[in-house]
Amino acid sequence: MNQAVLNITKTYSCDVLVCGGGVSGFAAAVAAARSGADVILVESGGCLGGTATKGLVGPFMTCYDAKGETQIIRGLFAELAERLVREGGAIPPAACRGGDSYSGYRPTGHIGVMPFNAEVLKRVSEQMCVEAGVKLLYHTIVLGCETDDARITRVYAADPNRVIAIDANVFVDTTGTAALAACAGAETVRGSEDGPMQMASTFFVLDGVNKAVLDAHMAEHTEMRLRYFMDEIARAQQEGRYSCGTPKLRMFEASDGTWIVNMAQTDEPLNELDGEAVTQAEIAQRAQIAQLMTFLRETIPGLENIRLVATGSDIGIRESRRLVGKTVFTIDDIRACRQFEDRIAVCASSVDIHGKNGVSYAAHDLDNYTIPLSCLISNNIRNLLTAGKTLSADRYAFAAVRVMPPCIAMGEAAGITAAIAAKRGLDAADVPCGDVQAELRARGAYLN
Ligand SMILES: Cc1cc2nc3c(=O)[nH]c(=O)nc-3n(C[C@H](O)[C@H](O)[C@H](O)COP(=O)(O)OP(=O)(O)OC[C@H]3O[C@@H](n4cnc5c(N)ncnc54)[C@H](O)[C@@H]3O)c2cc1C
Repeated sequence: MNQAVLNITKTYSCDVLVCGGGVSGFAAAVAAARSGADVILVESGGCLGGTATKGLVGPFMTCYDAKGETQIIRGLFAELAERLVREGGAIPPAACRGGDSYSGYRPTGHIGVMPFNAEVLKRVSEQMCVEAGVKLLYHTIVLGCETDDARITRVYAADPNRVIAIDANVFVDTTGTAALAACAGAETVRGSEDGPMQMASTFFVLDGVNKAVLDAHMAEHTEMRLRYFMDEIARAQQEGRYSCGTPKLRMFEASDGTWIVNMAQTDEPLNELDGEAVTQAEIAQRAQIAQLMTFLRETIPGLENIRLVATGSDIGIRESRRLVGKTVFTIDDIRACRQFEDRIAVCASSVDIHGKNGVSYAAHDLDNYTIPLSCLISNNIRNLLTAGKTLSADRYAFAAVRVMPPCIAMGEAAGITAAIAAKRGLDAADVPCGDVQAELRARGAYLN
């Protein structure tokens, strides 16, 4: 990128630059800083949390094994959970046993979810970054970079008033779209040949729910079709009163008594890399939400007096580009409950694909599987790592570990690896995995 054209007004330098402050980037930045690295985190929005806060998505999906008996995502996730609970911003995962309002009345796959309040998450994750010494740069969007000898040397970013340059030794791309990776010429994939991209959804929050009435309906109706009000939705669709969204009522009580609704959805896969298309989808979905509010008030017992509290300021993008890493994590690894030598997280999340023709959800009821460090390291850019929804994976494995607890576990591992690489002057792939695992264990992660 041409410095003269960009008119750089400020240059920063650090050991580790984390690009994107969603839950994965938050975890990577805190973990790297706690390893002694000088860390900058750039985020295009005005808060941390990404999809969890700007997208109002929740609850945190399960951090437990498939039987719901053992908490397997611990480490930084457990610390965040404890702090959120302490500040009145979450319900402990151990208290959520599935089937109730916090799990969207789903008895399976939702044991150990964590309802939370997005405002408390913003504040607590920010405090954790500040305490760890991370320099946060909000309203700063990564635009490009320079590379030399298959290494990123400098990132260019812009805030609303100026263009800046950031030099670093190691880079973690947690933009959710592999934006830095793409600029750097790192190999990436998007979607796959055997299926279109997942649909995008705008979550919204409401209050005024008469929980006793809704609970009573759910207690009387244990069949999921009736719990999801699918017949009422189908009828409204036929009568032209419901022209949008999903064919199911999916709503979750949050920790503060408000409810998060996941019903407004694109009809076709969205090109999430095209800002104009994203803008149009956001406009269309806010109109959908107005229609959905009317439908919900008129149709669902207990929802007669609901009020709209908020809509996600950003549409929720489930899927985008993924890095091609040293290895590719696959659905076969999940089915085989593979225990990788270089594992950095233990997981039991289910495959959850929100496609054009509905949701395909394959409950993972087997043993735990693991996520390898090698799928967080670029196969062709030597000082680039990723974490979260841009990990190197096929679309089915990705669809299982894209939920927030594994994203945080991946972020923590990526941050520790990045800090070690920066400190020792190593390529990311040459960081001894045993050192990363030892550090993760020391910080309370579960890797058995
Ligand atoms: C509709 C929907 C429903 C979901 N439901 C659940 C659920 O109920 N429970 C659950 O656990 N998970 C759920 N998920 C999955 C989960 O929310 C996400 O996969 C996870 O939050 C991804 O985190 P991330 O940090 O990897 O990416 P993101 O949350 O996408 O964060 C990326 C961050 O990078 C920033 N950024 C992007 N580009 C740039 C740039 N160029 N420069 C600087 N910053 C940039 C963005 O502003 C954003 O803050 C859902 C996802 C979606 C979309």
